Amino acid sequence: PVSPVNVTVTGAAGQIGYALLFRIASGQLLGADVPVRLRLLEITPALKAAEGTAMELDDCAFPLLQGIDITDDANVAFDGTNVGLLVGARPRTKGMERGDLLEANGGIFKPQGKAINDHAADDVKVLVVGNPANTNALIAQAAAPDVPAERFTAMTRLDHNRALTQLAKKTGSTVADIKKLTIWGNHSATQYPDIFHAEISGKNAAQVVNDEKWLADEFIPTVAKRGAAIIDARGASSAASAANAAIDHVHTWVNGTAEGDWASMGIPSDGSYGVPEGIISSFPVTTKDGAYEIVQGLEINEFSRTRIDASVKELSDERDAVRGLGLI
Ligand code: NDP
Repeated sequence: PVSPVNVTVTGAAGQIGYALLFRIASGQLLGADVPVRLRLLEITPALKAAEGTAMELDDCAFPLLQGIDITDDANVAFDGTNVGLLVGARPRTKGMERGDLLEANGGIFKPQGKAINDHAADDVKVLVVGNPANTNALIAQAAAPDVPAERFTAMTRLDHNRALTQLAKKTGSTVADIKKLTIWGNHSATQYPDIFHAEISGKNAAQVVNDEKWLADEFIPTVAKRGAAIIDARGASSAASAANAAIDHVHTWVNGTAEGDWASMGIPSDGSYGVPEGIISSFPVTTKDGAYEIVQGLEINEFSRTRIDASVKELSDERDAVRGLGLI
């Protein structure tokens, strides 16, 4: 029998966890022929709720699901982990300063990074979903010096997927017609969804749209503020779409991008496109055999340059702040 892939989900009893775990167990994360073992990490008060979710997972009788462990100890949760989905985080509450937010999350992601460093499998891949995702990923990565830095990634795939749909609606196309869209920068309001290299049925998307005002005043803000719009409409933050994007991110990383297309991932910068080395920023990437590469040689026009620089500056500031707090 094929040995199962160990998948650890933190914040497993939360909203996103609830939308995510069933899809992992059904084979949508890694493939319909890959058995999985789930490790659920939660804070102590949420362990009971995690047990409830595990009961439901049991009741699905997923043929691929080979076991579920529930723990509040990161060292146990990441023991032998092949894929770590870091969903649990400290949300920003009213009146909270950014420094407090980063510090609270440092208290979560630093020990988790160390636990990954000490206990995870050699091939571990990490996706951070919990916000501020890019900087949380940086904190975890800095705490895991024995793990190659490129294994720590942050999710911008939801932004990518949101941008695909907005562009499809504007142009009367379908998301399947659109290739080579890019999210640059931070998973925050400064993120930059770039259609200048995107193609719609083979035609340049920016030329098809031919409306810079729509780009600047509608498309970019709609994508960047979509999370708030969903909270407003649903009365709760997006969960199913965030879980879906986490599935897409890891599936793409493991199984590869299609020929003639790419995806967006928050990854440690190698200095490409003027993004300071080391910060975890979103780039266009192709993936193959479980590894990713930044798409090189794209021409960045002035419209894009300004926006990439602004988002990257925010990431550099967050890095400086967590450095100042001794978190990296
Ligand atoms: P959710 O499951 O809704 O969200 C979890 C995290 O994902 C939040 O940081 C949230 O950020 C982030 N996120 C990223 N992208 C999105 C998106 N597009 N839409 C919504 N959220 C997004 O939160 P819950 O409060 O339901 O659950 C969190 C769980 O994590 C709780 O059960 C808690 O106990 C647990 N937790 C576990 C920890 C651990 O395992 N050590 C540590 C801390 C918490 P944002 O807040 O900005 O929306």
